Amino acid sequence: MQAVPSEFLAIDRKERVNKPFHDLSLRQPEERVCDFDDVVIAFDAERAKVEASRCIHCPDPAPCMVACPTHNDIPSAMWLIEQKRFKEAAQIYHQTSSLPEICGRVCPHEQLCQGSCVLNKHHQPVLTGQLEVFALEWERKNDPYQINKTAPSGKKVAVIGAGPAGLSCAHILLGHGHEVTIFDSKPAPGGLMVYGIPNFKLPKSAVFSKWGDMESAGAKFVGNTYIGKEKTIDQLFEEGFSAVFIGIGTGIDAKMEIPGEDLPGVYEATDFLIRGNVKTDILPDDKKERPQMGNRVAVIGGGDTASDCLRTALRIGAEEVSCIYRRTEKEMPGGKKDRQMARDEGAHYRFLTQPVQFIAGSDGRLAAIECVEMKLGEPDAKGRRKPVPVEGSNFSIATDTAIKALGYWPDPIIGKSTPNLEIHDWGLITVMDNKTGATSRPGVFAGGDGVTGPDLVVTAMVSGRKSGEAIHNYLESLK
Ligand SMILES: Cc1cc2nc3c(=O)[nH]c(=O)nc-3n(C[C@H](O)[C@H](O)[C@H](O)COP(=O)(O)OP(=O)(O)OC[C@H]3O[C@@H](n4cnc5c(N)ncnc54)[C@H](O)[C@@H]3O)c2cc1C
Repeated sequence: MQAVPSEFLAIDRKERVNKPFHDLSLRQPEERVCDFDDVVIAFDAERAKVEASRCIHCPDPAPCMVACPTHNDIPSAMWLIEQKRFKEAAQIYHQTSSLPEICGRVCPHEQLCQGSCVLNKHHQPVLTGQLEVFALEWERKNDPYQINKTAPSGKKVAVIGAGPAGLSCAHILLGHGHEVTIFDSKPAPGGLMVYGIPNFKLPKSAVFSKWGDMESAGAKFVGNTYIGKEKTIDQLFEEGFSAVFIGIGTGIDAKMEIPGEDLPGVYEATDFLIRGNVKTDILPDDKKERPQMGNRVAVIGGGDTASDCLRTALRIGAEEVSCIYRRTEKEMPGGKKDRQMARDEGAHYRFLTQPVQFIAGSDGRLAAIECVEMKLGEPDAKGRRKPVPVEGSNFSIATDTAIKALGYWPDPIIGKSTPNLEIHDWGLITVMDNKTGATSRPGVFAGGDGVTGPDLVVTAMVSGRKSGEAIHNYLESLK
């Protein structure tokens, strides 16, 4: 339900619909490719007020609120921002979201809240994502948020994985007074928000500030600990944890299964992004070396990860950066906005092209990619036209560095090392109840990409929060 009901607002909707729209201001491409800083120029208080005043306050429940996977009360936040009541606006987001300053930046808003804004019919949507960032950043600077905690429960919960799912589950559990320890195989918390999504989309400072809030509320982080190998879930129970949440994501890069895939100069997307974007002090020991980049870089794939790799390669200093994709632009799964930014920054696209072999030069490193031209055939089961090779069309592209951005698979280790934990599809964890994330093992819950397959920060966050509440209820039932 909206906290500020639209029927009480004396507003002239017609006047609001016709207010001029000013899109997000971005730093110029030639400036932004020289650093890893945020591309978007943040709103100031005046700009935020003007943008929020474009909201026409649809009747409850507003479409933006429905489209938001965590159902943020966006109209009320817009009203409060318009009144310059920024702290109260930030509080609205805290009610339903554990990572509002992050979702405000990385959610695909054009498909969610902004995509459902009724202004789209004749006009441009309210820039709800950037307004969310503004309210939260204002709060951090002026009146920092603190997690509200009840009295200590005396119960300990282990969270495996410090990505959006694990952190959000921990956030809820801390609020209920439980002791939370988060284990992660990486040296620092954040999951893909740190070891994946580049800084120019999501400054790592936003993730670490969020972690700071949780640490202040008592959360403990144990890094460099690979559960399933160094310690099992059964051992965690033996150590006195009363419940476990698994939020391990899908950390295995998909392979191409073509010759030359292991040549020096051929990178997996996550490996490349981690080496290229993360500060050395929080890099895993085996990833401390920066990517060895040549001048000609090819990124293979058509999703958002491909755009992130293209834009990272440009920032590291590659001269010619191109994306190789086996279908046409129309079939590309990645967002248009990110693709446009990659283009503006200098990336080129080569469609209907499929690599068939990576070729080494005399020094043993990658020198070229042999490709075949493709054409679109019949639609597949999902309705997307299948790419079909054009016989005899093989050709080579001179390339120094190739980055494979083809998708992700789950890591099966937790399933293999945990008796009676049901898994499916090569390692995704089976949940018995989507509302709670309860697994086949009592006291073990799961959420995020490790349950659904690769998805979004916001969906992982929602599942972590649901499991946090479910674990609290489970712990109460043990009393
Ligand atoms: C390059 C890239 C860009 C993306 N961009 C966006 C974007 O712009 N917007 C968006 O909404 N989404 C984006 N995503 C998707 C989003 O990052 C994920 O959907 C989200 O992070 C999933 O959250 P999670 O908590 O389930 O898993 P993750 O974020 O993957 O976190 C899982 C954590 O578990 C740890 N772990 C794994 N196995 C173990 C183990 N056995 N023991 C201990 N720790 C373990 C990992 O080290 C990791 O820290 C992007 C993904 C990638 C790869």
